[in-house]
Amino acid sequence: MLSFVRKNNVLSAQPLPAYHLPSPPLPVKTSFQFNPDLQKALYGRHLLLNELPFPKDLIDEHEAHGFVRIEQAIADRPLTCKRCSNHSSYLFYSYHCAKCGQICYYCRQCLKLGIVKSCSTLVEWTGPPPAIWHPVNKSFCEWKGKLSEAQAKAASALLESVKKQENFLVWAVCGSGKTELLFPAIDYMLTNNKTLAIASPRTDVVLELAPRMRQAFPDVPISVLYGGSQERNHPVPFVISTTHQLLRYKDYFDLIIIDEVDAFPFNHDPMLPFAASKALKSFAPLVYLTATPSRQLKEKFLSKSLNGMKIPVRFHGYPLPVPEMKWIGNWRKQIKKGRLNPIFLNWLNKSIGMKHPVFIFVPSVEILKMLEPLIKQAVTVNVGGVHANDPDRHQKVMDFREGRLRILVTTTILERGVTISYADAAVFGADDDIFDEQALVQISGRVGRDIKHPTGSVVFFHYGVTLEMTRAVKHILNMNREGHK
Ligand SMILES: [Zn+2]
Ligand SMILES: [Zn+2]
Repeated sequence: MLSFVRKNNVLSAQPLPAYHLPSPPLPVKTSFQFNPDLQKALYGRHLLLNELPFPKDLIDEHEAHGFVRIEQAIADRPLTCKRCSNHSSYLFYSYHCAKCGQICYYCRQCLKLGIVKSCSTLVEWTGPPPAIWHPVNKSFCEWKGKLSEAQAKAASALLESVKKQENFLVWAVCGSGKTELLFPAIDYMLTNNKTLAIASPRTDVVLELAPRMRQAFPDVPISVLYGGSQERNHPVPFVISTTHQLLRYKDYFDLIIIDEVDAFPFNHDPMLPFAASKALKSFAPLVYLTATPSRQLKEKFLSKSLNGMKIPVRFHGYPLPVPEMKWIGNWRKQIKKGRLNPIFLNWLNKSIGMKHPVFIFVPSVEILKMLEPLIKQAVTVNVGGVHANDPDRHQKVMDFREGRLRILVTTTILERGVTISYADAAVFGADDDIFDEQALVQISGRVGRDIKHPTGSVVFFHYGVTLEMTRAVKHILNMNREGHK
């Protein structure tokens, strides 16, 4: 520290005695005003620089003042994707990058959400939070229906657990009305100015849920996110999304409800549980919703390390339809030769005669492409076929829902989420490996969901009964027995 002394009219620097040191200067008060549009766009999110409609200078300036964190999207040694936490080297590819002129790695695990490479940057907001919205002091739920006794019991257990910020499992048979029993918990979150998401591994489930939630909560801003959706509303208190899309959030939600938690790919893909935990604030709870919990989840529930409630009855109180098994011989060979099995065709004609819409589940796209034309030739009603990569998939499901298609041949993509009154269901080739217990229970759950028509026919057409088929039937019989008590 120096002081200035006047000597012969010239200022010269002299060291100050140590005991005379003044206190350190106060930090300079800058007049930096953060950009509120950037704050709103970025708060609670984890985005690539090129996903933000703001100039780089503006973001750099905010970083310099501590309002934004910028990091390289892919760390080297060891290679790690900062968006999805992938660190398996076989899930990275290297290539000569035209943008930076270097060899860049990109992450294949989260590629669906757009490419993340070594020269990409991820941005997050570290400044103060914006006001997300201004809830009024009243319930937002406009749903006028009434919960069944079983639903009401589960709904209040769920609400208590959400208040205590504890994880919870709702283990409810297909058609038990698990969406409605969420309403009290959702309403509690919204009236308490908290943020929540309902996420599902399946786009179809998101598309089925969104209109029902919008109807029940008409005054709440809701964002619906899935691959290809155009919604960019942010920040909103309520998000309905595929689990993939949660990777674009960080520390945003006070509650995440995972619907159809056992649905492939959540069950098999470690990235999706990661996405959920990243999007949640710390200590915020997760709620799992399923008709067919994985073995792991079941064990946690049975050993009481996870709270939850089982609902073994459908909301209308009727039992689940029990699948029949019908042997049709070597179905694969038959359809290759262009023949449709008469046992299968008889069943189909009977359903058509009763004017029931019919789901026909097949093991693969290959089988679908052989079976669909054979059915078209054999029947007089309109037939459609859908699979995951079908560009007209959503339209065809709509056509089936509204009666323009009477038969829908589908891969397992529609095993859950889609509710059609009066429907019957067949599994064509139920002995194929793809149909495990969970899938078969879900498919059987498509039938008899309407109180006006609580029954219906479910048939597993096969060339040899498998263990999974037997387990599925046992599962349904057990639930019916418990529900009857
Ligand atoms: Zn990644
Ligand atoms: Zn590059």
